[in-house]
Amino acid sequence: MAPSNSKVSECLTDKSLAAVLPEPNAPLEIQELKIPEVIDGAVLMKVSNVGVCGTDVHLWHGKLSGVPYPLILGHEVVGTVERVGPGDTRDLNGHEIVEGDRIAFHDVVDTCYSCWYCLIAKAPTKCPHRSVYGITLDSTKWPYLIGGYSEYLYLKPRTQMIKIPEHVTFDDAIFAGCALPTAIHAVTRSPLRWGTNVAVQGAGPVGLMLTILAKINGANTITTIDRSIERLKFAEEFGATHTLNIEETSLDERRDLVRDISEGHGPDIVYEATGNALAVPEGIELVREGGTYTICGQYTDSGGVEVNPHYMNRKHLDIRTVWGTETTHVYQAVRTIADNVDRFPLRKLVTHHFMLDEAQKALETQGSQKSLKAVIQPNE
Ligand SMILES: [Zn+2]
Ligand SMILES: [Zn+2]
Repeated sequence: MAPSNSKVSECLTDKSLAAVLPEPNAPLEIQELKIPEVIDGAVLMKVSNVGVCGTDVHLWHGKLSGVPYPLILGHEVVGTVERVGPGDTRDLNGHEIVEGDRIAFHDVVDTCYSCWYCLIAKAPTKCPHRSVYGITLDSTKWPYLIGGYSEYLYLKPRTQMIKIPEHVTFDDAIFAGCALPTAIHAVTRSPLRWGTNVAVQGAGPVGLMLTILAKINGANTITTIDRSIERLKFAEEFGATHTLNIEETSLDERRDLVRDISEGHGPDIVYEATGNALAVPEGIELVREGGTYTICGQYTDSGGVEVNPHYMNRKHLDIRTVWGTETTHVYQAVRTIADNVDRFPLRKLVTHHFMLDEAQKALETQGSQKSLKAVIQPNE
């Protein structure tokens, strides 16, 4: 048997089961795929946990453009290193990657860092060369195992990996895959600091991560808004000082409350994390004069909505939007989880676990919002 720190693996299998989405709106199919040779700089990950993202549900319904089908879904993936290619492969801290390491990774690969968007505009999330595991990589092309709904995931050379500290469970770490980096990116685009009054529209995974980040950053008040009683309870547990249920309050009542708790001014920052276009005019209404509105929940096209530009102009608003994540946001997400896991046990937000052959059920459960976060464990 190879020593535990050896890169020479005695892998027992050369095949992996994966749940494949053949085409939009079709049921997932369990297929057996060949594991390719692990080349220099690449890593074969044994998938422990893969989160079912709202984006996966949209991909199932064919609502994102530029996506190749058949597709292996899954971009929120954590697991253990099964095999490492020859040569020297290191994580973001410069530590050598070896078999048995528990790792997370940035789901975006191939950002070129040499085009106009990467170098001049300093907007690498708009790099035209980037591709995303479980979303835009083609599962009919090498290295085939490119989504997390699979026993094994092939991490291509140049994938940015980070080791997960021992005290962080895989259910905690799953939030470093997508929801927390997205929230961190939104925070970096807004003036969040000690004493700020914050409102968060939406208490799904991204909204709850924004609630937590507002708390960690010392926000004075944090009002989280949703229509689910269960999700608002999570918000209270994870940092919200106030919650508002849109089923039980009118827009006027919500605006009055957020003003009452901020000396009559309204929130300095409102974050949108709903995926519902109707939230946007409300957010513009709730934010204070001269405040910041940061939109990060509109990843799929949920239609147009009417806004009055004069009202926005007169309010002297700073309106920001957020697209995708950079490696630094994933790195900060793993650190944030590791440093706060006792205060904010994110694993409690994983409300449902599924096996690989239940992937379709996992997708439907997340789609119906019965779960806050559904997780598939392909090797259980
Ligand atoms: Zn580029
Ligand atoms: Zn996601």
